[in-house]
Amino acid sequence: MTDCIFCKIAQHEIPSTVVYEDDLVIAFDDLNPQAPVHTLVIPKEHYENAIDGVPAETLAAMMHAVSEVARIKGLDDGFRLISNKGEAAGQTVMHFHMHVLGGKPLGEGLI
Ligand code: 5GP
Ligand code: ZN
Repeated sequence: MTDCIFCKIAQHEIPSTVVYEDDLVIAFDDLNPQAPVHTLVIPKEHYENAIDGVPAETLAAMMHAVSEVARIKGLDDGFRLISNKGEAAGQTVMHFHMHVLGGKPLGEGLI
């Protein structure tokens, strides 16, 4: 996708603060953090959302990246993992991504 901002971040065409990267995925800090730690994990290939036919190997790589983000960022006490699908959920970038949020007590409510 030529006009997708996260594709451009994945290709290092747009700068980001990279936390973790491998062949399939990249994790980088959110531009507008909602918590002391707010890192996005995305596949390098373009999929619109979590249920857009993402290969199992890529999903596994993303979960591995989440664990690496948690380790690197010191989220030993816990973190919240969120993925918005569609406008009703508030998805603004239509390239599948998972938010890793933490670094402070987030409370029991999801929203
Ligand atoms: P969504 O609302 O789609 O679930 O989340 C999109 C996230 O991407 C938002 O938290 C927003 O701050 C972040 N974001 C949007 N554009 C950029 C960008 O160019 N760089 C980075 N690092 N984050 C971005
Ligand atoms: Zn994309």
